[in-house]
Amino acid sequence: MVRTWSLAALAVGFWLLSAFGQSRPDALGLDAPAGQFSAARATAVLGRLLPDQKPHPAGSAQAEQVRARILKELAALGVNAHTQSGMSCYSAPRSSFLPCGTVTNIVAEVLPGSGKAVLLTAHSDSVAAGPGAGDDGSGVAILLESIRALKARGGAAGHPVIALFTDGEEADLLGAAFYLRDPAAREAIGAVINVEARGNQGPSYLFQTSNGNGKLIDLYAQSVSHFATSSLYQEIYQRLPNDTDLTPMLKLGVPALNFAFIGNFAQYHTPLDRRENLDPQSLQQQGEAALGVANGLRHVDLAQLKGGDAIYLDVIGRFLPRLAARWGLPLSIACFVLIALAGLWSGERAGWRQGALAVAVPPLLIAASVGMGFLLHGLAGWISGQPDPSFAHPVWLRLSLAFGAFAPAIFLARKACAITCWLWFAGLGIICALLAPGLTPYFLFPSLVAAPLLLATVRGGRGIGLFAAALAALTVWIGLNQGGEAIGGLRMHPLFMASAGFGLLALLPLLQTAKSKWSCLVSLLAAIVLAVVAGFQPAFSDRAPERLNLRYAEMDGKAFWLADPVSRLPASLRRAADFSHQPQPVANFGTFYVAPAGQARSSAPRVAIHRQGDEVTLDIDAPGDGVLLLLPKSVQSQAVRLSDMDARAAKPLTGIGCATPDCGHARLTLELGAKGRGVLTLLAYHYGLPPEGARLLKARPPEAVPSQSGDRTLLVTRLEIPQR
Ligand SMILES: [Zn+2]
Repeated sequence: MVRTWSLAALAVGFWLLSAFGQSRPDALGLDAPAGQFSAARATAVLGRLLPDQKPHPAGSAQAEQVRARILKELAALGVNAHTQSGMSCYSAPRSSFLPCGTVTNIVAEVLPGSGKAVLLTAHSDSVAAGPGAGDDGSGVAILLESIRALKARGGAAGHPVIALFTDGEEADLLGAAFYLRDPAAREAIGAVINVEARGNQGPSYLFQTSNGNGKLIDLYAQSVSHFATSSLYQEIYQRLPNDTDLTPMLKLGVPALNFAFIGNFAQYHTPLDRRENLDPQSLQQQGEAALGVANGLRHVDLAQLKGGDAIYLDVIGRFLPRLAARWGLPLSIACFVLIALAGLWSGERAGWRQGALAVAVPPLLIAASVGMGFLLHGLAGWISGQPDPSFAHPVWLRLSLAFGAFAPAIFLARKACAITCWLWFAGLGIICALLAPGLTPYFLFPSLVAAPLLLATVRGGRGIGLFAAALAALTVWIGLNQGGEAIGGLRMHPLFMASAGFGLLALLPLLQTAKSKWSCLVSLLAAIVLAVVAGFQPAFSDRAPERLNLRYAEMDGKAFWLADPVSRLPASLRRAADFSHQPQPVANFGTFYVAPAGQARSSAPRVAIHRQGDEVTLDIDAPGDGVLLLLPKSVQSQAVRLSDMDARAAKPLTGIGCATPDCGHARLTLELGAKGRGVLTLLAYHYGLPPEGARLLKARPPEAVPSQSGDRTLLVTRLEIPQR
């Protein structure tokens, strides 16, 4: 029993080490040496950029003010800068939505040099719902502080450095796409560093790179003192729909790195993304990384950075073991063979039944662990009535899940065999090397420790060998378990449970004790009790609020209040307006709780529509902050002309967004497909609600906030495409 719970404590110790023992730099003060990055100086810059902490989405007057302040900072640093403006559309592969808008980028010539340039990018716009101190005010401040430090360092000539402060990133990468329209600008780029944020705390991750990143990871390892990266993030990010300004840049095929601190996701893209909520240590780590890598890239032959991919992961921020990805497969096979030989030579023989069970135990453990996650998260969610019951207070459910993963481990340990457990590790290394190379080190690196130790302890002392190998597995998997929670919280419990399961898999051979029934039962009971406690915690708090946008809409002569389809609309909002019991579909633009708001009182957007052959032109007169045009499938349009911009989408369009005020007076031409008929829906929107909405805003509790594009007023018009 003591042994069982000591091993549990060991796993918890690794979690604590990962959460609190990460090696991260201290935030430097205003008096830091001039050539170094200082979080205090970056914070001061951010204070000057966002003194009033107002949202500054693309096209707003506030965005213009922020740009003016960036230009002033650049001038004070003695850096030449200019702006570039124009209509931009970004057509993403696989997307049937075409975002557009008029953007203004700032381009700064930081350092002269020879050859192609190192491009530093951050976006100057925020979402409409929040002031964007983290996303991406921090990035802009980090760029400005890095520019200062780079200039202070001076030194030998290297590649030139250009800084690009993009506009309209939050409106779907419009500024980056606009910059890349210029062939000369594209041609000049030799490497790109993008600086982003997904939250306002946590380690600064190098979460994405260009392909063929082996030498780039070496450069990161040499240029940065505190690491936070893994080839798994790269593997995952490639599969996510999320994008940053780096997405269009990657098409250039030059070395590229994407940094973001990821932590306190609850405040991301909300009014709480304020300066005072930023962690100075995150700022320092991200700044040191951006500055270090920029300096490193300046002084290398950029063309020589291309090569094969690496597989890598950081160990508590201190070490960065890495290998060329092409070694993943042969090394995994070698580990598999060595572990199998250790099994053969150890002379242990089992019956086929016992052997089959030992082979089945590892996948059973992972399946049971993930299954327990569904049960416990489901139980807490059922009690709480919320799909993400631990959003604001994750500690209870985290403990519940930990006990929930431990119970099947104790149960299955009796049937486990050290050799088969480690054969699975090496075997999964082989499978990952073939299918998802980024994940390979999570199996291969512990196997590289285990294989020689198992061989060396064939004639005795296996316990010590297994213990040392388990430490390697715990470092890797419990680190992933702890860090992974920052990405999507415990709502992503399968990630939490699978990583806990793999950590425990390495402990199984050590957990083999006779009297484990009671420990198993205690663990199961604790998991259930803690899940119940988690279910009774409030799902949201004023520090981690629910995302709940309110909208006012006028359509077909009637007015409505719309609220996001959250699982439980707060009672105070129900008292403020007569919202429907269930969310309902509204026209073809979404599902909302709907409350009547009387007759329409604004004039609907005026649109003159005329057709010429296979083209239909809309002359829009709809003052506001932007327009959105929804197209039924029957229109089959893929080509659009908006002002002077011609854009072509990869698929027949279902929507065209134009995210800036000038779009309210634009001419939009659609090239129609074969059928080319149907009814278009045009939404003109303003940020915020009309004055009558004040009582709804007051009724929204402090545990709920607008997010992303925030509260909006929508005026809706429907337009039939004229037949030719
Ligand atoms: Zn961003």
